[in-house]
Amino acid sequence: MSPDEFRRYGKQVVDWIADYLAGIESYPVRSQVRPGEVRSMLPAHPPERGEPYENVLRDVERVILPGVTHWQHPNFFAYFPANASGPAILGDLLSSGLGVQGMVWATSPACTELETVVVDWLAELLDLPFREDGVAGGVIQDSASSAALVAVLAALGKTDRPGRIYVSSQTHSALEKAARIVGSEVRVVEVDPETLAMDSAQLRALISEDVAAGVRPALVCATIGTTSTTAIDPVREIGAVCREYGVWLHVDAAYAGVAAICPELRWINDGVAEYADSYATNPHKWLLTNFDCGVLWVRDRRPMIDALSILPEFLRNQASDSGEVIDYRDWQVPLGRRFRALKLWSVIRWYGAEGLREHIRTGVSLAQRFAGFVAADPEFELWEHHPFGLVCFRPLRTSAAETLALMERVNDSGVLYLSHTKVGDDVLLRMAIGAPMTTAEHVDHAWQVIRDARGVLGQSR
Ligand SMILES: *Cc1c(COP(=O)(O)O)cnc(C)c1O
Repeated sequence: MSPDEFRRYGKQVVDWIADYLAGIESYPVRSQVRPGEVRSMLPAHPPERGEPYENVLRDVERVILPGVTHWQHPNFFAYFPANASGPAILGDLLSSGLGVQGMVWATSPACTELETVVVDWLAELLDLPFREDGVAGGVIQDSASSAALVAVLAALGKTDRPGRIYVSSQTHSALEKAARIVGSEVRVVEVDPETLAMDSAQLRALISEDVAAGVRPALVCATIGTTSTTAIDPVREIGAVCREYGVWLHVDAAYAGVAAICPELRWINDGVAEYADSYATNPHKWLLTNFDCGVLWVRDRRPMIDALSILPEFLRNQASDSGEVIDYRDWQVPLGRRFRALKLWSVIRWYGAEGLREHIRTGVSLAQRFAGFVAADPEFELWEHHPFGLVCFRPLRTSAAETLALMERVNDSGVLYLSHTKVGDDVLLRMAIGAPMTTAEHVDHAWQVIRDARGVLGQSR
């Protein structure tokens, strides 16, 4: 493709995306295709001869779009948001356009140095203590799962004594996966049945039991904003236990961490500055930055680099040898890395701290609005903890199966998209607000749809 052809099709693609976003409400939120339907519309064999790009664009509309769930739809309330935004899309396009592979500083100094600056900016915006100073620092990963794996590897270090990992029943499955990858055993700490926060007294008991048995406690993962209900573990209490026993504290704030950009939500960082050895949050969830962009900060990079740095001859270079530069390949599992800092930089510059705060505040206030509707309705029960954009609730006098059936009916309609979780024996519905296009009208309408579905359920009993 020549630069002129690229210009022509590139403009078409940008126009297509702009039209898509402008008209997104005309699509069913959740894709309506059946398993295998998209595949059946695609040729089994690749073309022998190149095709005009128009063919690709035509098939994006014809084949791909029906099989897409519209995560940017203002009525997408499932899971957590996966925010996209104009500046992030453009930043990603620039990254693709430059085609840089930033594995070490020398393979593109700007890729490394811009990353150092934007993760510092983000640390400042979130009031986190981990600024680049040669010891502490941050790095962009593809995901919070990778961030957790890096933290686990750093915590285990190079000893051959298997270390144990402590989580709660509410911790993200990424930690269990990381433990499986490294061959560590996981111990599950109980949670408070009301708040679902980790019981730090039981954590201490398990750790001291393990120490007495000669097992090394390696890492505790505390979560700020669990995936299920946005529960918050007592980081300060957990941190004190970790300090006492010399255990690495990883704080997983994948979804909720970015909320600390608002001073009124900074209480969620309590204990982080004093105790966290590593901390992860995902701008690719609620901070307007297209997937993938997860940031990991560490208090001290040395254990991580010791665990991850292997220097083959073909990567040796003067800059790395000089010790004056950061080579982020040593801060992650893969060698290669995309120029992800460009999109986070675009986002922070376009919105400014003010615009980013505004986005978080809109999500929080719409969630409060929705929670108010639920609380006022005798047919529903509200899960009281909802400081962010997620509201959990359930219809009363319905079985778990009926609650799930209600959700399926709503989701099948294509009008909106919810997900669910389980707390004890109760199935809760999850209304996760935070798509950039969601307004009060969308939230009001969603509530109407949910109430109507509840009504139908009542009649059919
Ligand atoms: C979403 C989430 C993760 C996983 O995030 P990825 O970036 O998709 O790996 C981990 N922890 C928590 C608390 C999450 O909400």
